[in-house]
Amino acid sequence: MTAPIEYVIRRLSEYDGPPLRLMEVCGTQTAEISHNGIRNLLSTAIQMISGPGCPVCVTVSAYIDRLIELSGQEGTTVVSFGDLFRVPGSRESLSEAKAAGGRAEMVYAPAQILDMARKQPEKQFVFAAVGFETTAPVYAGIIKKAKKEGLKNLRFLTSLKTMPAAIRWICAHEPDIQGFLAPGHVCAVTGTKDYEEIAREYGIPFVVSGFSPEELITAIYGLVCLRGRGQTRNFYPAVVRPEGNPEARAVMHEVFEPCGAAWRGIGRIEGSGLRIRAAFREFDAGSDGLEEDIRKNSQCRCAQVLLGEISPGDCPLFGKVCTPATPQGACMVSAEGSCFHYYSGNEGGSR
Ligand code: SF4
Repeated sequence: MTAPIEYVIRRLSEYDGPPLRLMEVCGTQTAEISHNGIRNLLSTAIQMISGPGCPVCVTVSAYIDRLIELSGQEGTTVVSFGDLFRVPGSRESLSEAKAAGGRAEMVYAPAQILDMARKQPEKQFVFAAVGFETTAPVYAGIIKKAKKEGLKNLRFLTSLKTMPAAIRWICAHEPDIQGFLAPGHVCAVTGTKDYEEIAREYGIPFVVSGFSPEELITAIYGLVCLRGRGQTRNFYPAVVRPEGNPEARAVMHEVFEPCGAAWRGIGRIEGSGLRIRAAFREFDAGSDGLEEDIRKNSQCRCAQVLLGEISPGDCPLFGKVCTPATPQGACMVSAEGSCFHYYSGNEGGSR
């Protein structure tokens, strides 16, 4: 793809072919598309919809409930990134549980948890390990290190998911999607083979995209050009190799094994998760069997937002009951969440 970006933008704005619904899978892509107003550059015949690639947004409320339960156990401190603190569980958020006396601390990088465990051996720590193939190798490295050092006061409540099975599920259940921006960071680890297979099987194009405005616009144009063809293109070759990162996958598979996983809004998808292998099971804080349950607010439409069935503005709670200050669903909490971006005005009120 060597066309000047001005030409690409003009072609996208003038597109008058069959209507296209294109899904960006990755939460960071959602954030960048919104932040840079890319939807406003597109013809009305091209609709960008957000997929389930924000790890916080797809974490089920049962997982939050389990974190809260752990934070109330004598001598145990839950450690998490900030986003997860505000995600509603079935009754309350971790933040609310902490205000009521639960023990929970925030970290900015997963490696901090090792220091906490080393320096405070009298305490038990549980780290909230949420993410996709991008972060799973990092968590795997930390678990290996903890085992090597013989740390006995560190466990992980995992909610780790893998993309291909979820995208396959979407292709099977949401036929009105004509193309996918494949997640660049995930593909840097996994490579492109899985997406090539899905593209062929469902006759839908995939374009692996980077995250700058130019990269995203060019990748969207790639999807428009490929419409109707089950082909995959890598528009992020500086970072994504066809074979991905075998070393990262090796450490990930040494510590984790595939399992079924529950996705907020979708339910359980076989083969879409990772769980700690038996050889490292001492580090598991009880991650199995955390399925979706009743959300705090049954009017929350996160499920449909995550599948691109509705825009956040179509949710009856959007901007009224549900705001970033009073989030009723995970999509309003995370910096990668669609509802957060729509509310923040990054969409300019567009679809
Ligand atoms: Fe859920 Fe709030 Fe988004 Fe509605 S606006 S779908 S309640 S997160």
